[in-house]
Amino acid sequence: MYEAAKIRRDFPILSREVNGGKLVYLDNAATSQKPRQVIEALTDYYERHNANIHRGVHRLAEEATAAYEGAREKVAAFLGAPETTGLVFTRGTTEAINLVAHAWGRKELREGDEIVLTEAEHHSNLVPWQLAAQATGAKLRFIPIREDGTLDMEEAERLVGPKIKLVGCIHASNVLATVNPVEKLAELAHANGARMLVDGAQSAPHLPVNVEELGCDFFACSGHKMLGPTGVGVLWSKPELLEEMDPFLGGGEMIREVHLDHSTWNDLPYKFEAGTMNIAQAVGLGAAVDYLDALGMDNVREHERKLGEYAYRRLSELGDITIYGPAEDRTGIVSFSLPDVHPHDLSQLLDEEGIAIRSGHHCTQPLMRRLGTVATARASFYLYNTEEEVDTLVEALVKAREFFGAFAK
Ligand code: PMP
Repeated sequence: MYEAAKIRRDFPILSREVNGGKLVYLDNAATSQKPRQVIEALTDYYERHNANIHRGVHRLAEEATAAYEGAREKVAAFLGAPETTGLVFTRGTTEAINLVAHAWGRKELREGDEIVLTEAEHHSNLVPWQLAAQATGAKLRFIPIREDGTLDMEEAERLVGPKIKLVGCIHASNVLATVNPVEKLAELAHANGARMLVDGAQSAPHLPVNVEELGCDFFACSGHKMLGPTGVGVLWSKPELLEEMDPFLGGGEMIREVHLDHSTWNDLPYKFEAGTMNIAQAVGLGAAVDYLDALGMDNVREHERKLGEYAYRRLSELGDITIYGPAEDRTGIVSFSLPDVHPHDLSQLLDEEGIAIRSGHHCTQPLMRRLGTVATARASFYLYNTEEEVDTLVEALVKAREFFGAFAK
């Protein structure tokens, strides 16, 4: 039985107070809170095993290496990756996508080639491709968003043709609460000889993910959004693809032999892990994945689907509110705006009651323009949030509306 109340006891921060109120943390799309098990894994690593990895032959170096490589195995299994050689640790989604845009993009893209993205991309799956396009002469094309926030797949079929070299898409939106049909996009990409990149920053923490079933060539996600520490994430790709790619960062550990005028590269995945990695953070991510596995990602998805629907319904009942994204098949994110209330002011007012929501463009400025706004408020839920917290949010919004209404008069 999935019991959010029991799960909450594992998260020390959730029992703190903010501004005299009980913390209601609804900014999980930005970063998640961490369970005791992850915090203890970090402490244990530093108290008992800390050393640099792969290089030393002393006991601590061996233990640290085993912990780091053990984390790689856990994350690979969590994502359904067939082997660990394709699983590269990065700082997060942003770095993983930059790795692809440099190591694959700069090598494979030519003048006149096309990259297809969507209008709803996070800046981290847009700006790296703008830079790659500038460097290579490739062009960017965008799959539009329909009025309900879903992808216009008919237009996608028209756009993806023989000039396309890469299709890149968010698996789940950090604003619209949509889950995109990335499997279909991967088929479309492959039918045209292109590669498929999936930005899984908002899917890996919330839905069961299997990179083989998605059929993608690149999958990126961030540890800090899935109960893990900041500073670690992953890029998964097919080993044969990673093999063909040039290195991204040069330095220690990614080399096999170094001469004064040239070098050769280490085996995968180390070819893409230059310098001292975020070892403790990777170990912490391993503990986070253990925690998620123990809960079961189907159960997490079901809990958040129900919570997202409940929040959508309760917020809709407020009447004069705009909620972005489709009415059904949502993740646990609700982006909204109240008439004549700036999302920043709203967020500040809710903070006075200990309610943490996000306001702003959510690193999706082109999507904001498409939605005809500059900013929205966003409540984003995770596996420990409850219907009572949704109720607290709704009550606070009612009060906020009265407050701003009186202010407007
Ligand atoms: N893509 C999406 C859809 C996101 O929501 C985020 C984080 N807000 C990112 C990419 C970037 O993740 P990070 O900052 O951890 O690299």
